[in-house]
Amino acid sequence: MSKTWKLDGPDGKQYASAVPGTLGGHRRNRIYGRLDCPAALRAIARGGYVTNRVFFSTSEDARAAGYRPCAVCLPGAYTTWKAQQDGVSETRPVRDSLRQLSTRRRHPQNHG
Ligand SMILES: [Zn+2]
Repeated sequence: MSKTWKLDGPDGKQYASAVPGTLGGHRRNRIYGRLDCPAALRAIARGGYVTNRVFFSTSEDARAAGYRPCAVCLPGAYTTWKAQQDGVSETRPVRDSLRQLSTRRRHPQNHG
């Protein structure tokens, strides 16, 4: 028995794997998710999805190939991914407020 599975690698190129993929993806939409994803299964049942169906060994491969996590079946990964997309410009230093620590000088009372 030497069955092989066609998976997509991190470079987006297909290769033959001796073990089946753990994640499915949609080539056109650039989304990956679980093999039993309800959204994907619905799309497959409707037809039209299968021709764009790809498989990945790991989520790292999928991410490297430019796919994003499915919000339906991978909500945790999707949230992380979303935060990374939004948070790119948020590299503001927070420590600055510590600078104005209490270098409080008591103001001298001017007795003449
Ligand atoms: Zn999904």
